[in-house]
Amino acid sequence: MWAGQVRGALPPNSRGMTAPTVRGLTAARGKALLATLALTAAATPALAAARGSDAHITNTQAHKMPVGFWVAGDLHVHTIYGHDTCTTPTEAWDPASTDRNARRSCADPYTVGFTPTQRLDEAEQRGLDFVALTDHNNVVNQTDPDVIAWTQEHPSFVFVPAYENSQPGHVQMLGARSCYGNDGAIVGAVIECDQKVADKSAAGEAALADGLRADGGVFQVNHPSDGNWPAAFGHTVVPDTVEVWNIGPWAFQHPFPASNDNDFSLRWYDEFLRQGDHVAITGGSDTHWVTTDSGQGVGEPTTWVFVRQLTLQGVLRGLRAHHTFVSALPPALSGPRLFLEADRNGDGAFEAIAGSETSTHATYRVRTAGALPGSVLRIVTDSGTAEVPLGVESSYTFRPGVGGIPAATMFVRAELLAPDGKTQRRSGCDPVVGAQTTLCRNDLAMEALTSPVFIG
Ligand SMILES: [Zn+2]
Ligand SMILES: [Zn+2]
Repeated sequence: MWAGQVRGALPPNSRGMTAPTVRGLTAARGKALLATLALTAAATPALAAARGSDAHITNTQAHKMPVGFWVAGDLHVHTIYGHDTCTTPTEAWDPASTDRNARRSCADPYTVGFTPTQRLDEAEQRGLDFVALTDHNNVVNQTDPDVIAWTQEHPSFVFVPAYENSQPGHVQMLGARSCYGNDGAIVGAVIECDQKVADKSAAGEAALADGLRADGGVFQVNHPSDGNWPAAFGHTVVPDTVEVWNIGPWAFQHPFPASNDNDFSLRWYDEFLRQGDHVAITGGSDTHWVTTDSGQGVGEPTTWVFVRQLTLQGVLRGLRAHHTFVSALPPALSGPRLFLEADRNGDGAFEAIAGSETSTHATYRVRTAGALPGSVLRIVTDSGTAEVPLGVESSYTFRPGVGGIPAATMFVRAELLAPDGKTQRRSGCDPVVGAQTTLCRNDLAMEALTSPVFIG
């Protein structure tokens, strides 16, 4: 399969991907994205008030087309096995016990969660190919007999063993089958993993990451917008991936009317790129509770990964090679897709994809599938940004430094933004709510964004 091919879909250019019409936009798709955004708006009172390495596929040497295909998943999903989820309105699992049947009282009845197999069912029903069940500081979901039975019954679905480590910034230990310390995996340790990290200095965290990588895992910084990890380590510990997009729709941003400050996370992520580090963008729904699942379910957002094989190793390798893009919604809700590619030598073959390296003289192409009508493409390089109205097009070709696109010497990445009336909002709301609200200046809806193509 070729670079732009989605499992089960047509290959690029076989039908319509570059034709001058918006392809595949169904009423259901548009409604799904808009409904999600409307849900966010409804849940945001302030808005209502304002009315408004796998080195084999990176092609650094050969000009071969990458071999593989895109698969969809969620890298951040919680179950009942956490300190902040309950099993029933009165009971919760006891995170100090390795026994999955150990119970303590539930502090907050609205925090009832889902069993691991309910999560797996949800992921499958939403059209995902993989999911990481990332409970806080433990891996007990992995030995749940129901999980083992489910995975055996669904051999083509990839279960990613993992946990979310809190120390106090949250990091995702993707691929972990036990707790990790500064010296690597601690076989048999399955709870209170955060307490196994004795050295919480930058050197200690880097060692934690290296131990995970040595076992084929992926080290990810989660939701940096909470400020904990950035305050402790800045950009000194380089992860494989950053969860730039955390929790449901990417809409209103800090400070008001905020839901989640992904804009901060994206700016923080870009600093890695500017200092020359290769790091991938990912997303995670971070879904915890039954009460919030309707606006933050599994696959909201969805991370797409380019893989050679739909296996655990394939997904982890794709992440380590930075071949990712993130979409607002899962495949079953027709989440928009965004493919960034580069042709290093002008021969017409776009052999580089998100996460690959290319040359300084490359031509780039962005292709969309399922974008909302009137979407705006934002091209970001190490020297600036440019916004291109897509109109009815689903493909856009450009060269950095030409035609208003900023020059690039380090990276090029792309964002797909929903038409959101920014100009009208700015003119309409400034007299009412003034400059203190981001409503007047921010993007309200990210449809998708890609990891960069790096310039080698
Ligand atoms: Zn977290
Ligand atoms: Zn989480």
